[in-house]
Amino acid sequence: MPRQRGSAQHYVDGITACDRAVLARAITLVESEHPSDALLAQEVIEGCLPFSGRSVRVGITGVPGAGKSTFIEALGTHLIEVRGERVAVLSVDPSSQVSGGSILGDKTRMERLGADERAFIRPSPTRGQLGGVTRHTREAILICEAAGFGNILVETVGVGQSETAVRGMTDFFLLLMLAGAGDELQGIKRGVLELVDLVAVNKADGDNRARAEVARRELANALHLFPASDDGWTPPVVTCSALSGEGVPMIWDLVRAHRGVMQTSGEFAKRRARQRVEWLHDLIRQTLEAEFRRRPGVSSRLQEAELAVRQGAADPISAAARVFRNADS
Ligand code: GDP
Repeated sequence: MPRQRGSAQHYVDGITACDRAVLARAITLVESEHPSDALLAQEVIEGCLPFSGRSVRVGITGVPGAGKSTFIEALGTHLIEVRGERVAVLSVDPSSQVSGGSILGDKTRMERLGADERAFIRPSPTRGQLGGVTRHTREAILICEAAGFGNILVETVGVGQSETAVRGMTDFFLLLMLAGAGDELQGIKRGVLELVDLVAVNKADGDNRARAEVARRELANALHLFPASDDGWTPPVVTCSALSGEGVPMIWDLVRAHRGVMQTSGEFAKRRARQRVEWLHDLIRQTLEAEFRRRPGVSSRLQEAELAVRQGAADPISAAARVFRNADS
């Protein structure tokens, strides 16, 4: 395919008409690391901005096996079939960087939802650092909003910083947990609990129902130990079964209730404003780094510095200073 893949207006027209092929191509365009795509990608995003911002943005996290894809399938189906809404599902999965394989992307997930015209599912970009993945997901949110998806679910796997990143681009952050894994906080960093707007103990069905209720109470107690947040929302702890769908509509009611509370208090606008500023800083940081790395000789000097630091021949501070000094000369 030639590099010139249509004008920005062509993309924006296709996106706002919810042409799924154009939508998918537009997201591929913004995910592209090719410098020649950057300007067109920027124009497409700018063209989408006037049509974006009106969706309900929900982040969903939990350890592998917690039931995220089952939950999203159940929630998405509920939104479509019961509430008559549309839903886009995006993923932030930097695990491919760490493990060489993607936790979220390797299996076939959400088949039923994926087959529905009223849903759009986009797997995580498979390459790139968390910063790049985050930027692409932010931009994909805007594109999906311009295509008229009123609900955006951003899924992330519970590895390190990705939760903070997803919390930073959504209005509501939901943690799915499992009961009966011994320590109820297992696998989830304490810091993540401080980010959440709701905790749902999943798989509360069959023999597991009672254990899920015990876990719910323990988690509610743990959350009570945190200082009350000043945004007027106390994160509820509930149980649900993604498999049977029990509790899923109630969770969405809580998402909507949270939005009401936040809009009334003005916190909603503040959170979105904070997120726009974060986006600005991320873009500046990434642009600076990309420009720096493109300067002649930087790439090889960086490699030398990495080698020296790895071998203990130089310390990181002086090695970094040398890379910068040489880059200026
Ligand atoms: P993910 O890795 O977090 O996306 O988890 P999955 O959605 O793939 O679920 C992991 C496994 O748990 C699958 O075998 C699901 O069928 C099962 N599962 C998910 N939700 C529930 C639930 O509510 N109840 C029960 N019993 N099993 C569930």
